[in-house]
Amino acid sequence: MRKVLFLLTLLPFGLAAQTDSTQIANIFEEVLTQGACHDDLRVLCKDIGARLSGSPEADRAIEWGFEVLSSLQPDTVFLQDILVPHWTRGNTEKARLKTGNESRDLHICALGGSVGSQGEIEAEVIMVKELSELAELGREQVEGKIVFYNRALNPVLINTGAAYGGAFDQRSQGAAEAAKYGAVGTLVRSLTHALDTLPHTGAMNYEAGVDSIPAAAISTVDANYLSASLRENPKLRIAMELDCERHPDRMQANVIAELRGSEFPEQYIVVGGHLDSWDIGEGAHDDGAGIVQSIQVLRTFQNLGIRPKHSLRVVLFINEENGNRGGIGYAAAVKEGGEEHVAALESDSGGFSPRGFSMEGDDAQAAMVRAWSSLFEPYNIHLFRRGWSGVDIRPLKNGTVLLMGLVPDNQRYFDYHHSKNDVYESVHKRELELGAAAMASMIYLLDKHL
Ligand SMILES: [Zn+2]
Repeated sequence: MRKVLFLLTLLPFGLAAQTDSTQIANIFEEVLTQGACHDDLRVLCKDIGARLSGSPEADRAIEWGFEVLSSLQPDTVFLQDILVPHWTRGNTEKARLKTGNESRDLHICALGGSVGSQGEIEAEVIMVKELSELAELGREQVEGKIVFYNRALNPVLINTGAAYGGAFDQRSQGAAEAAKYGAVGTLVRSLTHALDTLPHTGAMNYEAGVDSIPAAAISTVDANYLSASLRENPKLRIAMELDCERHPDRMQANVIAELRGSEFPEQYIVVGGHLDSWDIGEGAHDDGAGIVQSIQVLRTFQNLGIRPKHSLRVVLFINEENGNRGGIGYAAAVKEGGEEHVAALESDSGGFSPRGFSMEGDDAQAAMVRAWSSLFEPYNIHLFRRGWSGVDIRPLKNGTVLLMGLVPDNQRYFDYHHSKNDVYESVHKRELELGAAAMASMIYLLDKHL
């Protein structure tokens, strides 16, 4: 009798686990045989291309996203107006290192949001590795110079996102900090592990009450050359010119598709990535991959006839790169509308082989998700850890919603990130599809068990 009772209590869990593993197998088979996300990525990258917020290409990406999501026939597809910044790179961005009578061109590109140089500026260069060194040098050694930030990504950190985070202040705050000591411009070592001649752009910020000075990224090869040259001759000069420009904000939009929940239509689960990209390359890993994977989640649910219990929203966020206004705007509308969100999953770490998921939630939520890890082991997806979810969904954080991020293998991510390298060809079809299948499986589990 005791044995029977014991078996009876185990049975429901055993059955549920089997159903889950079977459904996950169905999802992986569907995506790996019928998935269209790689084809979607080709269109997004090759027919539309780079799509910085505020650009006509971003307008086209919004139209494209609306059409693709509509073709999958969810219950609704709608646009959510978002006012976004508008900045253009212009046609001139060059830097020339002058040594005596010789000169050498350096590979640079303007940081997003930088002011132009209003013609050529020429100045001595001073190299630092930490922002705090500027205070030690003082105005007398910085004024009138170009500050060259040359702190490399820490190669020892296995989590490359953490290495990026550890070098990020040079790009985001470097110009504002240098301007406080009278610098006339900044060059920032590209935030990449790769030794290449590609400058990697990214967002930067000015500070109110401090001069806005031109800021550019310099490739790692050129940064090494410049650093070595400065050791020989600390009086080196650089002539630099940028004609980038800031324009008035423009109205663009988040694109949202919704499958109404069959049991809890007033409770929402979100899956998404960001539709905008930087203006160089094609935004393939960052974040075309997350966009087409999120769309693939909806396609997979539709093809397999999975009707979610909660309302499922696929959100293609605008303006992650230089403002996060899409993510902030979405969360504001959720709050204003009193919509209850129970979970959100973002993919914005590249289209590489999935390794697991990160979670931002309470202990019970983390334990629930960890209990599913064995379901993903057959797919070599086994990292379930607490940690950062995603920039776009982070504004939803309210103490109850479970936020999650797809965690792909990220060792090569920063080779491509924000550079000309980030093109369709750099994304592997099978790896992209495995990520999409992992996301669809996780959404399936969240919907079923929350
Ligand atoms: Zn991104």
